[in-house]
Amino acid sequence: MTDTIPWHSLSPQDALVKLSTSEHGLAQLQATRRRDEIGPNKLPQTQRRSLAMRFLQQFNNVLIYVLLGAATITAFMQHWVDTSVILAVVLINGVIGFLQEGKAERAMDAIRLMLAPSALVIRDGKRAKVSAEDLVPGDIIIIEAGDRIPADIRLLQASNFQVQEAILTGESLPVDKTGHASAPGATLGDRAGMAYSGTLATKGHAIGLVVATGAKTEIGRISGMLADVEQLTTPLIRHTAQFARWLTAVILSISGLILLYGAIFTNQDLSELFMAVVGLSVAAIPEGLPAVLTITLAVGVKAMANRNAIIRRLPAIETIGSVSTICTDKTGTLTRNEMMVARVVTAHKVIRIAGRGYAPEGEITDEAGAPLTQPSPCLKELAHAAALCNDASLHLDGNDWTVLGDPMEGALLAFAQKLGLDTDALQSQWPREAIIPFDSAHRYMAVQNAYIPATSQVFVKGAPERVLDLCAAQLSDTGEEEPLNTAYWLTEIEQIASHGERVLALALKRNHQADEGLSEAHLDGQLIFIGLVGLMDPPRSEVIKAISDCHSAGIQIKMITGDHAKTAVAIARNIGLTNNDKVLTGADLDRLGDEDLRQRIQDCHVFARTSPEHKLRLVMALQDQGMSVAMTGDGVNDAPALKRADAGIAMGQKGSEAAKEAAEVVLADDNFATIVAAVIQGRTVYDNIKKVISWTLPTNGGEALTIIVALLLGLALPVTPVQILWINLITAATLGLALAFEPTEPGTMKKSPRPRDEPLLTRSLGWHIVFVSSLFITGVFGVYSYALSSGYPIEQARTLAMNTLVIMEVFHLLFIRNQYTSALSWAALKATPIVWATILVTLTAQALITYAAPLQTIFETRALPISDLVLILLIGMTLFACVEAEKRIRLWFVDRRYK
Ligand code: ATP
Repeated sequence: MTDTIPWHSLSPQDALVKLSTSEHGLAQLQATRRRDEIGPNKLPQTQRRSLAMRFLQQFNNVLIYVLLGAATITAFMQHWVDTSVILAVVLINGVIGFLQEGKAERAMDAIRLMLAPSALVIRDGKRAKVSAEDLVPGDIIIIEAGDRIPADIRLLQASNFQVQEAILTGESLPVDKTGHASAPGATLGDRAGMAYSGTLATKGHAIGLVVATGAKTEIGRISGMLADVEQLTTPLIRHTAQFARWLTAVILSISGLILLYGAIFTNQDLSELFMAVVGLSVAAIPEGLPAVLTITLAVGVKAMANRNAIIRRLPAIETIGSVSTICTDKTGTLTRNEMMVARVVTAHKVIRIAGRGYAPEGEITDEAGAPLTQPSPCLKELAHAAALCNDASLHLDGNDWTVLGDPMEGALLAFAQKLGLDTDALQSQWPREAIIPFDSAHRYMAVQNAYIPATSQVFVKGAPERVLDLCAAQLSDTGEEEPLNTAYWLTEIEQIASHGERVLALALKRNHQADEGLSEAHLDGQLIFIGLVGLMDPPRSEVIKAISDCHSAGIQIKMITGDHAKTAVAIARNIGLTNNDKVLTGADLDRLGDEDLRQRIQDCHVFARTSPEHKLRLVMALQDQGMSVAMTGDGVNDAPALKRADAGIAMGQKGSEAAKEAAEVVLADDNFATIVAAVIQGRTVYDNIKKVISWTLPTNGGEALTIIVALLLGLALPVTPVQILWINLITAATLGLALAFEPTEPGTMKKSPRPRDEPLLTRSLGWHIVFVSSLFITGVFGVYSYALSSGYPIEQARTLAMNTLVIMEVFHLLFIRNQYTSALSWAALKATPIVWATILVTLTAQALITYAAPLQTIFETRALPISDLVLILLIGMTLFACVEAEKRIRLWFVDRRYK
């Protein structure tokens, strides 16, 4: 029945009555009951692909089409063994792809859950953070700039509030929302008193009444809009898939040519020749590659999520591994964001405050350490302003005090309580009438609170230089007004900041006319400066190691903060981010031209008093210098810089929805060390992709060349086509797959970042393919001719050659795992359990085909004596020695990047 109510035309009061609620919100019990009745605030799920469809899609791939074509032809020729082996290859690939894709989808779902939005709600008169799914009509919610509106709401209060409604109206410019009722017939875009689910708050602050949730919201009615299913792919994977298709075309052409050549210039049996060509095609096509690469990605995404880095867009997994500069916020990312007021400076006194966390207990002393018995009127006024110009609340959670809201504001509340103020009582005695919310562009927050009827007081807190600018006088210790001593305050600000503390100023305006409203014009030159507060925010201990890891990996770190330059430098030095005092402020950045900025940006690592627009400029300047930039952000205004950066990283805890949506990566714990963990994981994924390719292509190349050489030279094939098919069947699903799960190599963070545009198929990879393929042919032909010359029957010689080929693949796998360090150490050889498991499966399969009678009949194999097994092992070891020696020589002389 509430569906048809024109909420936008009702007054806030009427809307509250209709939903049987009040400004103090619903009672928790009431909210739970309503949720049970109407269900969660969530949009209906979009249709998923059915299981059958997902399975069939595994075969929708040119590589597989070729194999299916080959199977059909062999079936026509009644080569049933070949047909069934080819079909088995296709099927096994399909099943593995299907199972792994299912796993990957589940991992992505879990990630989506981790990103589920929350809402700040008032229930039982108290603020609480709840999952957006738990909202019900009648809830009162608080919206800040950067929030995505979680349900359709009737605005009860709106300060400077703007919303971007493009998702509903197509209008990309934000519109003002005043909270006023509009005519019943007003269109969606003209309803100033409403904000709709899914739209984005871009500015200001509002309090709203939830009037519709889930499918009942405006967005819920537009079905099918949200059907965005993310594909498990990245540019790199797409290029590789393209490359594989291209390779298939080349292979088919070569096969055709060979068939022609064989038919015209040699007198081989045409049907045998044809089978050899089918074997060649199957051998050369890297049919398992796309599936294995997708799995490598999925494994990486999951590993990152386990380390609290949530990948929102898959290509980021590649870019994050290549970053050469990380631009990071300070508060909460490098520091713990557990604030405590440590020092207060008034016009004539410095006071120190002791304590632990947000507990409202702690000794207050003067500068000499003597306890302060009676707070001065000025100090009381300061605590008063700190408690009222405040949106946070403190809660006792077991034995610990926690903050709901901004930790800095929580610290101010704790400080006011340490001075004996009952902050809850104060807030209800002085009801708030208006607010200018904090914004990192103007760097202060102002509130207007009712005092005696018709007059109000305004309290301001903010960055000290900004607040000083707005003041005309200061408060003496006895609470009298006296002339402003700007020079004194500037010295004190520097003094506090040099201890690495965040500095905040508090000011007030007496006798403000309540009906005048509140804007900057009402503050300018009319405020009285009360004093300064110094807040401690200790650095995160794990950050120091993460920074040093970055430095040894050739990654620069830039701290970009809204804080004071001195505070920023003190903290940057403390955590080893810089060893000098160089700092550029937002004002410096505004002065510098692009060329000057490019020159200064290289050796300056601290940027202070910046606003979000500066972040964008810094990203662009760094990118101009060829850097791959990761940039962190939390506010709505950070979105452009996050989008522009090569890897935009948003804070999961304190970040706004707007920032999260603009970012590619979200940090669940807001921690800088997590960014570094993501970089390591990103490098690992890239390395593993490279390893998969470096292992697969020479393997296919070696197998294909074996057939080509034999055909061209008119020799009997050392390995029959059906044996090649068998090898593909056994190794592609085992050995190749193992590389997707490779852990991070020890040297990963010792090499410089790879260049932004480095192609995957580098010259060194090309060389590796040629080199290893040649070793494969040498090994196979070598052992084959040895066997023939020793008088082995051809079947036994072929069995020996086939086993040699497999063992060489195994040794090649053991080699490929270690790109940066020797593959010969015990640690390297111990490998991962997955590697050994796949080797075991492969060897068992080989033992079966070599010694089991039924398989011997099908694949024309013969048992091998122990001495031959030893020989095969020696050949494998020789291949290993050759590639390892080549790597060492390359590492020494050519490719110093890996050192
Ligand atoms: P960082 O980039 O290191 O995370 P920040 O983003 O927290 O820093 P801003 O939020 O832009 O930096 O804050 C800049 C300055 O504005 C702070 O040093 C402080 O003086 C002031 N400030 C921050 N939050 C508030 C607030 N809620 N109310 C009033 N002033 C604030």
